[in-house]
Amino acid sequence: MNLDQYIRDIPDFPKPGILFKDIMPLLADPKAFRHSIKLLAEIYKTRKIDAIAAAEARGFLFAAPLALELEKPLVPLRKPGKLPYRTYSLKYELEYGSAELQMHTDGIQIHDRVLLIDDVLATGGTMKAGASLIEQAGGVVDSCAFLIELTFLQGRQKLQGYEVFSLLKY
Ligand code: 5GP
Repeated sequence: MNLDQYIRDIPDFPKPGILFKDIMPLLADPKAFRHSIKLLAEIYKTRKIDAIAAAEARGFLFAAPLALELEKPLVPLRKPGKLPYRTYSLKYELEYGSAELQMHTDGIQIHDRVLLIDDVLATGGTMKAGASLIEQAGGVVDSCAFLIELTFLQGRQKLQGYEVFSLLKY
């Protein structure tokens, strides 16, 4: 199955000049959605992974079914003020301004090997922040996996030192 046909290009979203990769057609097709999760599960089922983490919101859409498929704990990384229990927090810079991700302090155990998931690797800033947060919590980043990698934005460079995998490259 060619997953590429389920990714829709939206020009000038969210700003003029940006060609947005819309994953909603994939989510709308259960066979294609399941296939994307099966492909990721095939790759990671033989690795020693203790938990799967993802940043809100679209990362959750892939991390949750993958966590079920691999029978691993799911660790949500959220924007400030969303998590009810004690949190670790990490601020990071965006093109304009800054952002912050948080996770529960008991989200992972020390030395846990964590697989980080997101829908799209663009500049790599979001994933880098997620990886740093996992490390702050005492975890080890096993790898970073994406449905889509926008290669021209060179996000891999920002993730140097981490193993990076993507199902689709543009
Ligand atoms: P980065 O931090 O790598 O620059 O941006 C990645 C984050 O922005 C991901 O969490 C992803 O959901 C979102 N993102 C950036 N570009 C796109 C895109 O073209 N399509 C989708 N679906 N998400 C994007």
